[in-house]
Amino acid sequence: MASSIMEKFQSMEYGPAPEDASGVMQWLDAHGRWFGHYIDGAFTKSSAAKFESKNPATGELLASIAQGEAADVDRAVKAARAALPAWQALTGHQRARYLYAFARQVQKHARKLAVLETLDNGKSIRETRDIDIPLVARHFYYHAGWAQLLGDVTDNGYTGDTDLKGYAPVGVVGQIIPWNFPLLMFAWKVAPALATGNTVVIKPAEFTPLTAMLFAEIADEIGLPKGVLNVVNGDGATGAAIVGHPDVDKIAFTGSTEVGRIIRKATANTTKKLSLELGGKSPFIVFDDADLDSAVEGLVDGIWFNQGQVCCAGSRLLVQESVAERLYDKIRARMETLRIGSPLDKAIDIGAIVDQVQHDRITKLVAMGVAEGATCWQPEIAVPTKGLFFKPTLLTNVHPSSTVAQEEIFGPVLAAMTFRTPAEAVELANNTAYGLAACVWSENVNVALDVAAQMKAGVVWVNATNVFDAAVGFGGYRESGYGREGGVEGLYEYLEPAWVKSEPKMFASIDEKQVLRSAQDDNSGVDDHIEGALGIDRTVKNYINGKQARPDSGYSYAVHDRNGKVVGEAPVGSRKDIRNAVEAARAASAKWGKTTAHGRAQILYYLAENLLPRRGEIVAHLADFVGPEQAAVEFDATIERIFSYAAWTDKYEGTVHNPPFRMVSVAMKEAIGTVGILAPDDAPLLGLMSLILPAIAMGNAVIAVPSERCATLMSDLYQALDTSDVPAGVVNLVAGKASELGKTLAEHDDVDAVWCFRDETASSMVKLGSIGNLKQTWTNEGRVIDWFDPARGEGRWFLRHATQVKNIWVPYGE
Ligand code: ADP
Repeated sequence: MASSIMEKFQSMEYGPAPEDASGVMQWLDAHGRWFGHYIDGAFTKSSAAKFESKNPATGELLASIAQGEAADVDRAVKAARAALPAWQALTGHQRARYLYAFARQVQKHARKLAVLETLDNGKSIRETRDIDIPLVARHFYYHAGWAQLLGDVTDNGYTGDTDLKGYAPVGVVGQIIPWNFPLLMFAWKVAPALATGNTVVIKPAEFTPLTAMLFAEIADEIGLPKGVLNVVNGDGATGAAIVGHPDVDKIAFTGSTEVGRIIRKATANTTKKLSLELGGKSPFIVFDDADLDSAVEGLVDGIWFNQGQVCCAGSRLLVQESVAERLYDKIRARMETLRIGSPLDKAIDIGAIVDQVQHDRITKLVAMGVAEGATCWQPEIAVPTKGLFFKPTLLTNVHPSSTVAQEEIFGPVLAAMTFRTPAEAVELANNTAYGLAACVWSENVNVALDVAAQMKAGVVWVNATNVFDAAVGFGGYRESGYGREGGVEGLYEYLEPAWVKSEPKMFASIDEKQVLRSAQDDNSGVDDHIEGALGIDRTVKNYINGKQARPDSGYSYAVHDRNGKVVGEAPVGSRKDIRNAVEAARAASAKWGKTTAHGRAQILYYLAENLLPRRGEIVAHLADFVGPEQAAVEFDATIERIFSYAAWTDKYEGTVHNPPFRMVSVAMKEAIGTVGILAPDDAPLLGLMSLILPAIAMGNAVIAVPSERCATLMSDLYQALDTSDVPAGVVNLVAGKASELGKTLAEHDDVDAVWCFRDETASSMVKLGSIGNLKQTWTNEGRVIDWFDPARGEGRWFLRHATQVKNIWVPYGE
């Protein structure tokens, strides 16, 4: 028996240590150490400018790379556009086969890919071999499954039997990725895009282009139809050319918050869909009852994994005061055992920093931390004299407002702070503009889950850190960006309801219901500022924090009916009114978000109940604007809509993901917070309520601006809101010029999302205004929505925009 085990061991293949790079060198040599792009199924080497990709551990030149120019990007986009119809004409199964083939080939070439990644990036072979490349394969397997399940793409969207039936691919997708997980980020972008039937133009980061080129060879090997996947190399200018290309339908970006802002700005005047996965400054919270030894191991994975060059790195250690010194001692002892050196050595924990620029930045920030009062500690461990290495670093005595506690360092530097109570831990943890990830360490399940739920972050790991899986969405809150990658939640970034892009003639049904006004009508009424009463009885005020409020301007304007007759006055709201409404909404949202779904549902039903007795009066008011026939239909549809969202409130629930290890991830659908709404004016009551309802049903507080032309209708809601127990501040209504009020909402740092369902100019204005705090925006891109059709005017599409998914990873077993 013993001998047979020995034989088995002896027959196993072990690679020499350090890892043998000769195969990869041969591959580089075979290409003359000179790479271009992969466009329309062909490898092209334009004669244009080149840049160099070096091994950061040795400084050795690995290869020269072509700098993609606008013409290269244009060829790639054209190829992707041309490939789109045939790619979408494939069955879901056929697309699944390609994704499956990618997964198999990645497994087959795993060693080569891992070594190449280590050479190019400087990360340890242990990580590329055991983490990056297996996750890449897993991502393609998982998404091969989605391609199969989504089914075929028809004019009516996917035919498969999933919640996504009726959705359709967005089209040509431009993707820009960073250098910290080069192939993994490539997989995170490409797999869901292709699985959902889009075609791709992707730009790897300039520091790390090589595994993408090897992957392009795999695409060739598996016979992926030409043009479906195009890889253009280059730096930020090439990225900007992709972002700026008029024929790209969506941009998916991972990188710095700074560049995220540039991209938001560059796409504001377009209808391009956008997802951003940006920086982070993630808290790593350790309670006094935590298993401290496990927490220390967690920290090794949290901040020293990938040399700390991880957007979700647990870079802020928050430790309960009573165990702080004990934990620091353990951390220091563990740091003494970390091995830093040649990334190809299998025994190495910490490899090289990707580039001199990054090394300089880390050095500068650590010095700044010390200058601001932190104590810096580094272990006495050997560090290679050549290459870009940075010792693991612990900063204690860090003030929560200091630079090293607020700014992303993107290096192996841990900034430690203490707290006393769970409430203080939550406050410190959320005291950042970012919101990517958080770790909570406690053996007390109640404390851990309570704190996890309060984290303003897209991913929370309980007693774990930096675990990832294709089935679990990843992405941020706040200035860490929007959109998710992975899981069903990640698919939405690459699709939209099939009907959305259709011609407006589909709204003929509305004409039949006598919609006499066009959404693009001018706002002439607003300029007729008139002071005082006109001798008419409908003088409407704003509605802020549960009270009727005079506009700060003191002005009102005349509201005309559809025959031009003055039927009332509405307030001319201003920045000040919006600010007051935002303040009220912010205060209300915290509590409303925590109200049970059942409780919120009851309130919505009650709202319908309180509107119903006033049907005659409200229909009469509405008829002034839309005629009696539509008014009646609109009122009844509004009541039905309230019932729908009351029903959805406790049914639009989260899911539990099952990654392939002993953890579950609870994907919670959380409220976003405060939502600004610019309502349409084609169905003045139904349109307004179709936006307010999903937002408040999901626990948000809103600041809504109704259609200028029909703003007097607001007052029909006040009484019902008052008597329905909708808490003060949950619904705020401010009338006035939507362009002005919308701009204030979009620019306001305390507004978390803005929805705009008006014309294209308003859509652009909102996107442009959102750059400051990178709030989420959702617009109709100027298209008319048939609010009367429940398949379009209500349901999951709205609920999804009213929520953001937080994945809480929970381990089980010992
Ligand atoms: P990091 O700090 O991770 O290097 P960056 O945001 O600088 O992040 O880079 C991430 C990716 O964005 C890289 O591929 C880079 O070339 C690209 N990039 C940089 N500037 C721009 C830009 N203005 N437009 C589009 N892409 C850009």
